[in-house]
Amino acid sequence: MSFVSPSEAVSSGLERLLRRVSPDVGRILDKALADRTITTDEAERLFAVQGTDLFALLAVADELRARAVGDFITYVVTRNINFTNVCYMGCRFCAFGRPARDPEAYTLSMEDVVQRAREAWEWGATEVCLQGGLNPHQPPTIYEDMVRAIKEAVPQIHIHAYSPFEIWWGSRRLGISEETFLRRLKDAGLGSIPGTAAEILVPEVRQKLTKNKLSREAWVRIVRTAHQVGIPSTATIMYGHIDAPRHWVEHIDLLRRLQRETGGFTEFVPLGFIHENTRLYLEDGARPGPTGMEDLKMHAIARLMLQHTIPNIQVSWVKLGYKMAQMCLQAGANDFGGTLFEESISRAAGETQGTFTAPETFERLIRDLGRIPQERDTLYRPVIRGRQDGTAAPQLWQPPLVRAMPGPRVVYR
Ligand code: SF4
Repeated sequence: MSFVSPSEAVSSGLERLLRRVSPDVGRILDKALADRTITTDEAERLFAVQGTDLFALLAVADELRARAVGDFITYVVTRNINFTNVCYMGCRFCAFGRPARDPEAYTLSMEDVVQRAREAWEWGATEVCLQGGLNPHQPPTIYEDMVRAIKEAVPQIHIHAYSPFEIWWGSRRLGISEETFLRRLKDAGLGSIPGTAAEILVPEVRQKLTKNKLSREAWVRIVRTAHQVGIPSTATIMYGHIDAPRHWVEHIDLLRRLQRETGGFTEFVPLGFIHENTRLYLEDGARPGPTGMEDLKMHAIARLMLQHTIPNIQVSWVKLGYKMAQMCLQAGANDFGGTLFEESISRAAGETQGTFTAPETFERLIRDLGRIPQERDTLYRPVIRGRQDGTAAPQLWQPPLVRAMPGPRVVYR
């Protein structure tokens, strides 16, 4: 693995580019290259860059990515199981949730869920990702029951499941604390949780998106508790609707402060708003998602802000499409996300990029960037295939540490 040293970078074309940028932007980029923390004001300034300043921002983000995680681009073989779309919440940005009587409402049976997990394992997945609507017609024990049933059928698969909103809902339905609920889920076999339902962790925006049903404080409390009981999570942002750069930098700053405290975030995943079928766009006047430049800046500035706290920045190929995802991987990101097999939430909102990416496709797109593909598991450990005895398997890639989940450093599959 070859890392570009800071001195090499400064003597490269990057130095020439930095000589041509606006003085205030240059100072911020120099600060990032010197491994100093970028403030929210500075990050907000970077969201306004254009022209040469923009190219310099992207180049600095790419340089910092190389220093943090080298030239590997990782991906995970996973299957999404959106087990129900029945939901009573009615978030304005969501086109997935349906009332129970809606003709398109569905709820998978337990047998279906387990069968999908079994198939996923047989197809080579290391993870299943379960998320669904908040369905009052399912039994209160459904979350625990699903984890237990999957683990019984496929003990080795990693279960990445239940957003903080589902944890909030599940614990209330059982009448137990969030901590007790998380501990019970962990005992049943839950491996990690998605850090979704974050949207924008700024109350003035959140209030309009979800009527603040899951407040910022509740989201932070649940994620912090998950990390404290040894359940890592991802971290996300949903941007490009009724929000602005000020909200984005406050959101990312909150995530980095939480990460300094718990170390439990595995990655940061920017999720551009998919607008077509949502009431937020059709009735509330939201923007039709982020522009391409905003996508690039989001990944690049996230790299600058999170460099020393959350080293993995993931592109969402579902939201971005392959071509834009490749561009973001040149602008600070280092992870291609998951194969998914099927995904219903973005599709319901109007996304058309497809629902499955084969590992071979990831490998082609990664090599096209001159980078090195590396399959990983949910916790960013390299996955080595066909080496069941564990001998002589090359460990190509040294994953950044996830403090909340110590364990083996390589996974054989
Ligand atoms: S975002 Fe989640 S909680 Fe909100 S309506 Fe959609 S499925 Fe329900």
